[in-house]
Amino acid sequence: MNIHEYQAKQLLKSYGCPVSDGRVVLKAEDAKTAAGELDGPLWVVKSQIHAGGRGKGKFKEPEAGEKGGVRLAKSVAEAAELARQMLGKTLVTHQTGPAGKQVNRIYIEDGSDISRELYLALLVDRGSSRVSVVCSTEGGMDIEEVAAHTPEKILTLTIDPAVGYMPFHGRRVAFALGLEGGQVKQMTQILGNMYRAFMDKDMEMLEINPLIVMTDGNLKLLDAKVGFDNNALYRHQDIMELRDTTEEDPKELEASKFDLNYIALDGEIGCMVNGAGLAMATMDIIKLYGAEPANFLDVGGGATKEKVTEAFKIITSDPNVKGILVNIFGGIMRCDIIAEGVIAAVKEVGLTVPLVVRLEGTNVELGKEIIKNSGLNVIAADNLADGAQKIVKAVKG
Ligand code: GDP
Ligand code: MG
Repeated sequence: MNIHEYQAKQLLKSYGCPVSDGRVVLKAEDAKTAAGELDGPLWVVKSQIHAGGRGKGKFKEPEAGEKGGVRLAKSVAEAAELARQMLGKTLVTHQTGPAGKQVNRIYIEDGSDISRELYLALLVDRGSSRVSVVCSTEGGMDIEEVAAHTPEKILTLTIDPAVGYMPFHGRRVAFALGLEGGQVKQMTQILGNMYRAFMDKDMEMLEINPLIVMTDGNLKLLDAKVGFDNNALYRHQDIMELRDTTEEDPKELEASKFDLNYIALDGEIGCMVNGAGLAMATMDIIKLYGAEPANFLDVGGGATKEKVTEAFKIITSDPNVKGILVNIFGGIMRCDIIAEGVIAAVKEVGLTVPLVVRLEGTNVELGKEIIKNSGLNVIAADNLADGAQKIVKAVKG
């Protein structure tokens, strides 16, 4: 789960990290009061969406201006005007995809005078099974770009969980970033506080880009992007309350209500599969035969007829889907249950695209029989390759 920048900053502030004073604004008419509560003489008006690259992003609507989703203002009136321009508009950044994201919240901050922009992140490194610290002197730009062109400018170190965070970690980062004097001590405190927040709240990623050195020499977190481990959310009610479902894919949101593991992709073949491994294999083989999967979907081992129906509804609600491949291995799950679920779903939501069903395992003969006798226009397949070839042929001709 991701949260907005302003929420991340409030959280990090509660752990003692330095951030700017700011106000969140949901309605344009509140922007002036919000900006007026900040000191100035510089204000930063920031679109709140769950995607990075906002500063270099572009709005779809010309009346929102062309200057990106993070803008500087020299007066309260200007800040309010910028907030009004951006609210409700669609911001496209390299992380939103071409469809962009609607800006429903604006964060107005007291502007900082920047001397240097640095990069600092904590993330779960599955390779080393530890939390990694990643830092770079090249802040304010895409870390992927830095990694591709100047990898020597990135320092990565890992924190031994048995020992935890130690001030020497912070000092190493500080020296790599060219910090001096009192800044080194600030860095050891900031990184320690970030690590504490990371561990306490079961974060997956905590990215500060940029961490700035201000003209007065002090450090500050100017941007914050946080992702949490969904598997641990149940023990963080406070974090769950920060969820903004309007930022999530509506199909993925619907799927999460029914405990379906669904991820939207941009291909044309909808997939309904049981088991994550089989779902991955199904996506691979669709690609092998020349088409692209529209989604990853694992209905799980104990799917009921109702769950299969919901899954089917979600797949068919995607306008990109030109055909559906159902690929089920009945182990714990019985093929006849799946067959009944598919038929119930088709009867309920209708079927306007070709449907290929491949069943294997427990009660497979009964399952095939049910589908055959249903009178529905379903193409039966005998194995994975056969199923993939048939759906690709049905879609692509
Ligand atoms: P992102 O584009 O989504 O990563 O948004 P950021 O919060 O990182 O802001 C983008 C850029 O705006 C930063 O890299 C800064 O250069 C600039 N910026 C953000 N806040 C301030 C501020 O308080 N003062 C100044 N001078 N620039 C800022
Ligand atoms: Mg940033």
